Parts: sequence; C-alpha cells; structure tokens
Amino acid sequence: MFKKVLIANRGEIAVRIIRTCKEMGIKTVAIYSEADQDSIHVHMADEAICIGPAHPKKSYLNIDNIISAALVSGADALHPGYGFLSENKDLINACIKNNITFIGPNKEHLEIMGDKAQARKTMIEAGIPVVPGSKEATNDADKALQMAKEIGYPIMLKASNGGGGRGMRIVHNEEEFVAKFNMAKAESIVAFNDDMMYLEKFIENPRHIEFQILADSYGNVIHLGERDCSLQRRNQKILEEAPCSIIDKELRREMGEVALRAAKAVNYVSAGTVEFLLDKDNNFYFIEMNTRMQVEHPITELITGIDLIKEQIKIAYGKRLNITQDDIRINGHSIECRINAEDPENNFMPCPGKIERYFAPGGFGIRVDSHIYDDYIIPPNYDSMIGKLIVWGANRNEAINRMKRALDELVILGVKTNIEFHKEILNNKEFIENRLATSFIEKVLFRKNK
Ligand code: ADP
Ligand code: ADP
Ligand code: MG
Repeated sequence: MFKKVLIANRGEIAVRIIRTCKEMGIKTVAIYSEADQDSIHVHMADEAICIGPAHPKKSYLNIDNIISAALVSGADALHPGYGFLSENKDLINACIKNNITFIGPNKEHLEIMGDKAQARKTMIEAGIPVVPGSKEATNDADKALQMAKEIGYPIMLKASNGGGGRGMRIVHNEEEFVAKFNMAKAESIVAFNDDMMYLEKFIENPRHIEFQILADSYGNVIHLGERDCSLQRRNQKILEEAPCSIIDKELRREMGEVALRAAKAVNYVSAGTVEFLLDKDNNFYFIEMNTRMQVEHPITELITGIDLIKEQIKIAYGKRLNITQDDIRINGHSIECRINAEDPENNFMPCPGKIERYFAPGGFGIRVDSHIYDDYIIPPNYDSMIGKLIVWGANRNEAINRMKRALDELVILGVKTNIEFHKEILNNKEFIENRLATSFIEKVLFRKNK
C-alpha cells in the first residue's frame, strides 16, 4: 500500500481523507494556505506544509507548490479531494512526471468527462440516453441560435467546462437567446477560462439522480446505487438522500446498468459519479460524469457500509475490487444536510467569521464531517460549506426524524448558517411526502416570500 498520501485540499474533505488514511495505516501530509494555519486538517495530519498565501490561485491551485510539498515530504500518492484541482489534468501530468500516484481518474478519462460537451458526444456514440440537445459545442451565438431552433424552447445553455452550477442559463424564447448566450459565455470565460457552450432541452421539474461507480484497472465496474440530489439552489446541491424512494428495483437496475455502460464506454478507472435527470414519466437522461469523490458521497457509505475513499485509494494503488455487484446491499435510508456559513435571509450571502460556540450532535445513526471547532475562524477566501450533517435511518421517515433531532442539537454561534433553512425543508409537507424536483427550493422560498 501507499506509504504517505498528500492531501491537496482543505476543510472537511481533507479531514475525511486523513481519517481513512489513518485507518489504513497510511501516513498523511496536509497542505495549507496562510489563512488556514489553524485549520483542523493541519493538526490531524502527520505532517503539514504551508504552500502559500490565502488566495486559492497562490495556494490550493498552485500546482508547483503542491508538487514541491509532495516531493519534500516524500509522499508517494496525492489525493485531490473535490473542487480545487480535483479535475485538473495539469496536476495529473505533474504527478506522472514526478512519480506520484494521483488518486483519481486517468488523464484520458478526465479529458473526455471534464469537457461536458465532449462527454455528451461520447455518451451519444455509446448509445447512452442524453438530454435532447446540440451535438457540438460552439462559441458562436448565431450558430447556437440555429441549434436552438431545431431543439425547441425552453433551452438550457451550458458551459462545456462548467461545474458547481455555474455557466448555466435557461432561455425561454428566441428573443432573449443571444443576450443570454453572451451572458453565459462571459460567465464561463471568467469562471472556467473557456468560451465553448452547448445546448440542452430544459427538462421541467426533473429529479437529479446520480449513481456512484467504482471501477478498478482490471475492467471490474460496479455501482453502489443512487443518490437523489434534487434539492438545489441555483443548480447547487444543498440536501441529498439515498436511496431515492420513488425508484423501484427495476428502475434502479436499469439506470444502474446505463451508468455502468457510461463508465465502461471510456474504460473508466477510480470512483466516479454518473449524473442523470429523471423526468416525471421516469425517462432518464445522462447530464455529466464527475470523475472525483463528491461532496455527498457519505450517504452512499451509510446505506452500503462501504468506505468509498478507501476503495478509491486501493484502486489507485492497483488493487482489484474485492466487492462484486451482487455484494452491494442497500440498507435503510440516509440524508445529508450541507451546513453552510451563509445568510438565508440575505440571499444566502457567505458569512465568514469566528465561531463563538460549537456543539455537534451525536447518538445513533449520526455522522458529522466537519473541520470546525470552538473559536475557529472561517476564512473568507473559500467555499462557505463548513460541514456536513449525515444521518442513517431504517427508512426515509426515520431518517427525516433523526435529521430533525440532529439539527436541533447542532449549535453553531457567531456566524449565520443555513441550519434553520434545513429545518424548514424537513418540515415541509411536500418534502415529507417525497414530492421532489430540482425546482423545489425555489418554490419553498417563493411561497415564503409571498
Ligand atoms: P456538483 O459539482 O455536481 O454539484 P458536488 O456538489 O459534489 O458536485 O461538488 C462540487 C461543489 O463543491 C462545488 O459546486 C463547490 O461549490 C463545492 N466545493 C468545491 N471545492 C470545495 C472545497 N474545497 N470545500 C468545500 N466545498 C467545495
Ligand atoms: P454542474 O457541472 O454544474 O454540476 P450539471 O450539468 O450537473 O452541472 O447540472 C447541474 C444541475 O442543473 C442539475 O442537477 C439540474 O438541476 C440542472 N440542470 C442541468 N441540465 C438541465 C436541463 N437540461 N434541464 C433542466 N435542468 C437542468
Ligand atoms: Mg453536476
């Protein structure tokens, strides 16, 4: 097994990865920016190296400094976490050049799946159902307008290199097309340094359903069931659950098989997620594949009993999967609430600052993945997510009640958080009745503001 893993990330995911490494007897190296010297991942790792100033470009996105840290510490592998450089091929190249194993996909997988338009094209060729839309990406508004005519409105404009819900725009009619195209393109240039866009039919009120995949280097590919991530704000997930209670065994088998085919179409290796939209008639469409560990991976861990980071590390080392599809049993129900330091009353504006008091919930079926503690100062430079509250229950109803109990116990004082907002969701009648769609949050907010 690897001797020492460098974790090229911060916050809760760095803590999450260190925990599994410790259990596997692997030494860990944390990296941190000048803003993060008091961060808990720095203390939990066996070694910690400062890699630059607070600004992400100078630290967590600074490949040269990260590779130097790996070389000085003698790390033989690197885990990128999610966000930051987790889907960056320059980092993979740098790892190859320096004889460091990248715990993630190969460069080739990343090249295909990281470009969402390219992924879409590859999936069409492999016979995977995708959302009806354009065959090619373009940066030309007039060309895109022609494509839109053929697809029909409403249209979802998407950045080829997009992610995190950014670079996306709904277009309702021809009149607003060019303006919205140029806006989305400008956003993509700023956020992703790329101007290529593609078009999809806008699916009304779908569910976001994604399948967790594990694939080793010997052609073994399995899925660990689905996650329902329909509760989103601005196309960003905020509460996820697994399994999806409206998916029966037959549909799970069918979607799971398509997800496996998608992964096999690119000879995928590592952990990954195949994302679909599921419409009200149970038609499902591939939207993208994420080639990294996702924020919401713990809910799959709780219903399958499998440590996904451990499997991901073993695969990267070249081990064979010792779990088969038949070994996967879905047990009970799990829900995750992303706890963000933000102000729901003020358009969810991030609220960095000092945590005056912190009390984490506990008891049967509760898991807290977080890096915060009493007196911790949340720096303003990074994502506003400060932790994830995850529960397991024998069924959906028990999981909901347990989550409500856990949210009641959770205390975070000093900064504004979305804890009350989560309680509102969990007490909502439509949520309890499992009538979910990606438009849900907007509708709840809308009603509240009326
Ligand atoms: P998706 O991109 O499909 O929504 P995830 O939600 O699992 O998938 O993961 C990406 C999201 O995680 C990004 O939208 C971003 O807001 C957030 N993120 C990225 N990097 C970090 C980080 N270092 N710490 C916390 N959150 C992050
Ligand atoms: P990202 O790379 O930012 O994660 P995705 O392509 O995964 O982008 O889409 C994120 C979310 O945006 C989806 O979960 C869904 O809520 C919404 N979305 C994406 N494509 C469509 C579409 N064609 N129709 C309706 N909603 C969509
Ligand atoms: Mg996505």
